Amino acid sequence: MRIVHIASELAPLAKVGGLADVVLGLSRELSWKGHEVEILIPAYDCLDAQQITDRHIVMDHLLSFYKGEWFSNTVWSGTVEQLRVLFIEPHHSRRFFERGCIYGAEDDIERFLCFARAAIEFLYKRSVPPDIIHLHDWQAAVIAPLVAEMYRPLGFTHPKTVLTIHNMNYQGKCLPADLSSIGLEGGRYHRPEALQDDLDGHLVNLLKGGIVYADGVTTVSPNYANEVMRTDEGRGLQAALQAHAHKFKGILNGLDYSYWNPETDRFLSIHYSAKTMTQAAPREGAKSQLKGELRAALRLAQEQRPLISCIARLIPQKGIEMIKHVLHTAAERKSQCILLGSSPIPHIEAEFQALQQQYAHHPHVRLILQHEEALAHLIYAGSDIFIVPSLFEPCGLTQLIALRYGTVPVVRRTGGLADTIADIETSDKQVEERNGYVFDAPDAQGIDSALDRAIACWFDYPKQWHQLVCRGMRCDFSWNHPTTRYLLFYEQLLHGR
Ligand code: ADP
Repeated sequence: MRIVHIASELAPLAKVGGLADVVLGLSRELSWKGHEVEILIPAYDCLDAQQITDRHIVMDHLLSFYKGEWFSNTVWSGTVEQLRVLFIEPHHSRRFFERGCIYGAEDDIERFLCFARAAIEFLYKRSVPPDIIHLHDWQAAVIAPLVAEMYRPLGFTHPKTVLTIHNMNYQGKCLPADLSSIGLEGGRYHRPEALQDDLDGHLVNLLKGGIVYADGVTTVSPNYANEVMRTDEGRGLQAALQAHAHKFKGILNGLDYSYWNPETDRFLSIHYSAKTMTQAAPREGAKSQLKGELRAALRLAQEQRPLISCIARLIPQKGIEMIKHVLHTAAERKSQCILLGSSPIPHIEAEFQALQQQYAHHPHVRLILQHEEALAHLIYAGSDIFIVPSLFEPCGLTQLIALRYGTVPVVRRTGGLADTIADIETSDKQVEERNGYVFDAPDAQGIDSALDRAIACWFDYPKQWHQLVCRGMRCDFSWNHPTTRYLLFYEQLLHGR
């Protein structure tokens, strides 16, 4: 199958969050399974160029339409992580991708609309069309109506379009005139059954456009798929998703085990696996040595206590009040707590900086407010418990990484967290499938109800705790199964089922 992914992020060269990892992980597994995969992204000036080899131009002077004029784009190709990546570089006076950032410019809507039109124009002009055009999030979603309404009538009838929604909170709402700027007459699509926004009636919604016009729509876990159709988690798009439920599916994300692997992790001084952990006695072996290293690195006391950690972007979605509660109560629970995170929201960043000062010399609590890849790996490896108290979470990667590194997740029952973590005591799943602690209420009492049980088990039942750790490490959340599900989804679309 020939598959083209169109996205605004790609790890490791243009990464803001989980989207970048998903596009890389899924593409890599598809290509390992023998399919021809390409990824189309904007040629941002802030790309990590060291990650790209074999750079060459594949199309000069690709003409694309924006605000009544045709302008030239260069499309160049490069190899990233053994995958073929195509970069679109618009030669427009607005210099859309020369902003030193991926998102956060005032004209993000216009930047990505312009990218979307050029991307589909490129695929149309090429000699061989792909079988599947896989769009990610609102930045690429408008390509679905472009294909259905503009390019199919021109004879571009073979490719099927798939939209994956990675987070319902970001929808790309704009004026009908913005749509007209890329050639889709705004007034025509400003209707409830097309792109009109269901909450802000004067606007159009690019993500909704993808839901209405793509041949297939997915989101990143089955439980989140249910939530967004039936509850406010749909953020106003529930009705659109219900109307198109026949083509909508939740497919769980995978984790890249070639990168997240305690057996080979280049950021760790010693390595371990599910096998070596099973052979080691509780609280001995490589993982406990790494716990010592982590405490030494962060100047935490070396005492017989469980180490709780949290790694997250500090935004309201991640359950900030609960994270603060765990930091404040760590010492009285006879535990230790580490937070690694940074916030794009200034008042939240300021609040956590104050907490960082408050705990700067504390023997049991530490906050690190930067993006630190190496430290993240040591935290996953050296901790006992990992908290993910999100208010909502489409899939979540950190709980999957924690499992792989033998750190027991304590998570809120929402979105993909509910699909991946089964409570050791209350789940109705088979005992072998239970891998952590789960709570419901999004408040201090809620998280305490799970965390207290985890801490009690750590102190009182070290053998059972050790079994739980080893069981989590053996869970398979690789890209293998999710990719098979995507392939089945693609095939059903191609064969009209
Ligand atoms: P989201 O995409 O909403 O940020 P995910 O759980 O899908 O959440 O992915 C978060 C990823 O970002 C994980 O790989 C996590 O380890 C990483 N991460 C988050 N904050 C930091 C940080 N401060 N330093 C290093 N890695 C971080």
